[in-house]
Amino acid sequence: MKILLKNAHVLTMDDAYREYDSGWVLAEDGRILSLGEGETPEGADEVIDCGEGILLPGFVNLHCHASMIPFRTMGDDCPDRLRRFLFPLEQEAWSRELTYLGARFAMAEMLLSGITTVVDMYYYEEEVARACMETGMRGYLGETVICQRAPGSEGPENALALSGELLEKYRDSEWIRPILAPHGTTTVSAEILESCRDLAEKYDTLLTVHACEMDEEMRYFAEKGMTPVSYLDSLGLVGPHLLAVHCIHITDEDIALMARKGARIAHCPGSNTKAGKGIAPMRDVAGAGIPFGFGTDGASSGNTLSLLDQMRLFPLCQKTKYHDRSLFPAREVVRAATRGGAEALGMRNSGMLRPGFRADMTLVGVERPSLFPVYDAYSTLVYGACAADVRLVMTGGKVRVRDGRLTELDLSRIRRELEKAMPPFRDAAEKYASVLRGNR
Ligand SMILES: [Zn+2]
Repeated sequence: MKILLKNAHVLTMDDAYREYDSGWVLAEDGRILSLGEGETPEGADEVIDCGEGILLPGFVNLHCHASMIPFRTMGDDCPDRLRRFLFPLEQEAWSRELTYLGARFAMAEMLLSGITTVVDMYYYEEEVARACMETGMRGYLGETVICQRAPGSEGPENALALSGELLEKYRDSEWIRPILAPHGTTTVSAEILESCRDLAEKYDTLLTVHACEMDEEMRYFAEKGMTPVSYLDSLGLVGPHLLAVHCIHITDEDIALMARKGARIAHCPGSNTKAGKGIAPMRDVAGAGIPFGFGTDGASSGNTLSLLDQMRLFPLCQKTKYHDRSLFPAREVVRAATRGGAEALGMRNSGMLRPGFRADMTLVGVERPSLFPVYDAYSTLVYGACAADVRLVMTGGKVRVRDGRLTELDLSRIRRELEKAMPPFRDAAEKYASVLRGNR
């Protein structure tokens, strides 16, 4: 089936940043057939008028814990919440069912904000894969491997076995790419990190890990005369398979090492700054040529699962950090959110609008008052747009969002079913009420 999207301001995100002012894109069988400006081609089975909105490649979310929707706003301003209630609450009250229902809600929320690919790490990751398949989200998914009691597994060896199952099951999937997801540099033993590395190499897939994020993590390695990155390198983890998350406190040496070895970075400005952890040196990361993109993090850490929010925060933080207004102009920010994310994942035929590439696209409407006038479509997206402006989303050539609404999913039902499963979790959370309310 041929679908023609017409009357759009098309941002191709190709090397020349080519734009088509009154542009169109023709898609068939999940791929882009042709695109251009002016006169539209004949023979489309369906024609969609884009109402002069901005059409660009779908956003790539490089870091998420999608299922964590039930945690949203819980202890948002509470210090050290990871160990004080997040880990204990997960161990006590998290379930396979919540993973699936939370992930389904999150996929709906992400599609509505223009995200077409997500990298996820959590427990019962098989359920996240199910949610991706059902909603039409492309997923790079890894079972969290952690050396402590965790939901859905009796220990890291068990989590590794689950990773292996995922890797086998979705080996040839068009939609799911299984990856390795050791939790962090201090929460996973060296031996288990090496096992994760071996699996990533065996299956030629990504390994994603939280790194250079926490002050205590930095202190721990400083006492050994190392950095988290030099430690990962000593275990052979720094290479083209590595997608390191956060990297707030990376040093110049770390950056040079990661660039030399072909590692990638998932930058999460929203969750990094909300936790007061710091602003990553992204000017130097970009300068070194390290592929990077943005992550929303889970709803517990970043609240909204909207990449547009990250795209606004990112340049504001970086310009402020370096006292430089010209740093990261808007089109570079849009590039990082689309093509940059695809490159960080090593995706082929994604991240740009060009013939033969995947028909994963997002249309952002420009009707709201704060989006008028449009002199520079990149600026409009970065400094003015939000998730509510997303009008249409296509993944694999299928329209998943139209007129700002999900076409195949019933959001109110998805929400109702999640709410219905939440009471045991809410009851367990009550135990931490004094932590959550008392110590702000
Ligand atoms: Zn995370």
